Amino acid sequence: MKIAANTIVSFHYALTDQTGEVIDSSSERHPLTYLHGHSQIIPGLERQLESLEPGAKATLVVPAAEAYGLHNPEVVFEVERSRFPATLDVSPGAHVMAQGTDEPRVFTVVELREKTVLLDANHPLAGKDLHFAVEVADVRAATSEELAHGHVHDGVEHGH
Ligand code: ZN
Repeated sequence: MKIAANTIVSFHYALTDQTGEVIDSSSERHPLTYLHGHSQIIPGLERQLESLEPGAKATLVVPAAEAYGLHNPEVVFEVERSRFPATLDVSPGAHVMAQGTDEPRVFTVVELREKTVLLDANHPLAGKDLHFAVEVADVRAATSEELAHGHVHDGVEHGH
């Protein structure tokens, strides 16, 4: 069966950035499983997986705009150092949790300045073109219950 809307897809992947550095990968034994056509994975990857069949191997390049978005310079801002607990790691590259306008979110420390910390609220992968080496493990039709719930039920226990 080919990957199409309303199929349940399992695939292995290794994700690298444009420099070849590995960012993430599925584990040897557990591929990533998702319901295709329901925006459960990044849009550029979902679109490029379309029509692949089990056993297919491919290298898919997803431009930043179709992955985690372009880097938005308007959400890079300075915060007074005194507002951070002294024990908190605020070295460049560290991720800190802070209250956003509605929910806690993760910020990346860009730079330490004399009295302030420069924070970036972009997703850490924003602005990056992503390279996925994928191998499709399984494709099957979603059950009517999975479609009604909008998610995969393999090994998932929940009360509804
Ligand atoms: Zn469910």
